[in-house]
Amino acid sequence: DRIKQRSNIHFFQAQNRVVLRNCGLISPEDIAEYIAVDGYFALADVLMNKAPQDVIKLIEASGLRGRGGGGFPVGKKWSIAAAATGDKKYVVCNADEGDPGAFMDRSILEGDPHSVIEAMAIAGYCIGAQQGYIYIRAEYPIAIDRLEKAIDQARNNGLLGSNILDTGFGFDLDLRLGAGAFVCGEETALLRSAAGQRGEPRPRPPYPAQCGLWGMPTLLNNVETFANIPLILRYGPEWYSSMGTQGSKGTKVFSLAGKVNNTGLIEVPMGTTLRTIVFDIGGGIPQGREFKAVQTGGPSGGCIPAELLDTPIDYESLKEKGSMMGSGGLIVMDETDCMVDIARFYLHFSQDESCGQCTPCRVGTKRMLELLERITKGKGQMEDLETLEELGAEIKDASLCGLGMTAPNPVISTLHYFKDEYIAHIKDKKCPAGVCRALLDY
Ligand code: SF4
Repeated sequence: DRIKQRSNIHFFQAQNRVVLRNCGLISPEDIAEYIAVDGYFALADVLMNKAPQDVIKLIEASGLRGRGGGGFPVGKKWSIAAAATGDKKYVVCNADEGDPGAFMDRSILEGDPHSVIEAMAIAGYCIGAQQGYIYIRAEYPIAIDRLEKAIDQARNNGLLGSNILDTGFGFDLDLRLGAGAFVCGEETALLRSAAGQRGEPRPRPPYPAQCGLWGMPTLLNNVETFANIPLILRYGPEWYSSMGTQGSKGTKVFSLAGKVNNTGLIEVPMGTTLRTIVFDIGGGIPQGREFKAVQTGGPSGGCIPAELLDTPIDYESLKEKGSMMGSGGLIVMDETDCMVDIARFYLHFSQDESCGQCTPCRVGTKRMLELLERITKGKGQMEDLETLEELGAEIKDASLCGLGMTAPNPVISTLHYFKDEYIAHIKDKKCPAGVCRALLDY
């Protein structure tokens, strides 16, 4: 039945597979298959025909923004790293994908590792780096295996190493394995961990583009960001910026999960509505149940309720609705999901993953979690809702890194859109979705 549902034309009709173009179509373990679909063409063209600053201008003109969650303009980041001075420079790929329900980067690396390798070599040429690292979580053994094979094959074919394509430019790659700490997805923590230190965030500035790995200028982008680069250079920035919205160009990969008929990896132009994603591509909600909300941005984001289903997916629109793009997890919820319990789940995740370095995040999230646990057990008081809002605002303001700054988001957004569910737990001692077990006995 699932295969039948997937063969429904709608699953692919509203998609535009740019980053995922090769996934499932070529063998990721054979460099010849990547080269056969114009792989490494962009690298050869750049090294033989273009100056680094001209390549950066093309990336800037494409409007590509970082796909790791922040949405920072990629061309601008590359030009800052190119202008920075240091004895050495590095290019680092963030493949430390840790959001619950997100598997975009894993799938790109498992299905098309050469697109990331090619992009990193281009980045090295542009900023003047000769060494790159892919920081990947150790829980991705297939992706690691395929990356290792791909790096070896690229070296053996003169596409990595000391004299790439006889142009005199040298660039090589190595892997660094992360041990599964969510906070190591934060750029400064990742760079510390990659250098063999404890993976804890540090204050910024200085930003990694000026002071990164071993104190040297470092360009850091995530897997999906890099996977866009060869195509932008192959087909031009006009082609790329013709997809998407005014402020968010190109496509975005999402892992569609939760209470939806067609789950899996999808790629859509920026600006596609959540309704199209959930009801056309996703095929709607199973068992004829009612759609309730979709969580975007994982534990850093917020929920978008049914009345806002026509929200287009782009950086600005999601922020306006109190959520965020994040790296691309989309969890669909139906009438049998309790929004208070969902908020408790995400906060528990962030609280558990907090590195504990600063008080607002370490203690504040703990206090918020205690309040949510009390409410889901029917022991909450109406004042708790105000305390949750106040604590949430303070944690967002005073935390050192993105993990703490965004940890309260799932609570704040569910309080905003589903306050009636919180009130039902507190006043009526009832969980409207029938999820919170302790309340079933009241
Ligand atoms: Fe660590 Fe949280 Fe502070 Fe980030 S905000 S540095 S995760 S304690």
